[in-house]
Amino acid sequence: MLAPWLEQLQQQFNHTFQQGRLHHAIMLHGLRGTGKSLLASSLSDGLLCDKPSSLVACGTCKSCLLIKAGNHPDRLDIGEANSSIGVDQIRELGEFIYHSAQQGGNKVVVIRFADSMTSSAANALLKTLEEPNANRYLILCCDDVSRLPATIASRCFKQLVVAEQSANWLCNQLNSHEIEPWQTLFLQQPFLVLDWQEEEIESNIKTLYDCANSDVTAWQLNELNSMLAKRTELVDTFCLFLTQRIKQVALAGAPFERISEQLNSVTLFVKKTKTLAGTNMLLSLAMLQQSLRQLS
Ligand SMILES: [Zn+2]
Repeated sequence: MLAPWLEQLQQQFNHTFQQGRLHHAIMLHGLRGTGKSLLASSLSDGLLCDKPSSLVACGTCKSCLLIKAGNHPDRLDIGEANSSIGVDQIRELGEFIYHSAQQGGNKVVVIRFADSMTSSAANALLKTLEEPNANRYLILCCDDVSRLPATIASRCFKQLVVAEQSANWLCNQLNSHEIEPWQTLFLQQPFLVLDWQEEEIESNIKTLYDCANSDVTAWQLNELNSMLAKRTELVDTFCLFLTQRIKQVALAGAPFERISEQLNSVTLFVKKTKTLAGTNMLLSLAMLQQSLRQLS
């Protein structure tokens, strides 16, 4: 069962598919954690299934069983987190698309993290996109479509995926009665919250939230340091919480110059910890704390 906002898109795609107008290259884009990858899988399953109903896979036919076993010969998956997609993988894609389907139906390629393609990979993909083949579908997923060459994006049917009205759905998934304050900041990215739950790092996120919303002079620098140094991707989350807090202070009437200075120091902190190798996290945190002191 897909989340409601994904279900709605699935139905739209089914509609165009039934009319024989489904584009050969679909680009699902939108914030991280909206479920793009799940929608891509669902569409891919529907396109490969022998007896789909409204483009939803039956789950029991031979094709579906092959999909479940992870070895359907007419499906190719490319792209993973934190690694770039090279030209060799796109050449493999070209070969895959070229040969006829082993199960006699459609062939589907799902490219996740499409915005991590190298420029030579993107060039190679362009060729494939320019020569569409019948019964061949490419489904690309990326967080930020502007990071892809315009030549690629313009040859795809672009679909923005937005998690709309996800609060109730998220509550159900989390088995809780209400959304916690920190979770309200991620209602647009509900799968991110679920990933954190699965990875059992929710308490870390909550600590970051509490810290960002507490008196900065009381920051436990060592605790923050060990958390952020171990998982630098959480720097973004911490800074999101901080920015939110600074905005609240701004709304309460704090002077503009001070607010702007503080926002700058948060931006600088992100830049330092993410782009400069070997940054001393503890020192950077101490400097951030120093510049945010007037916040509370
Ligand atoms: Zn099936």
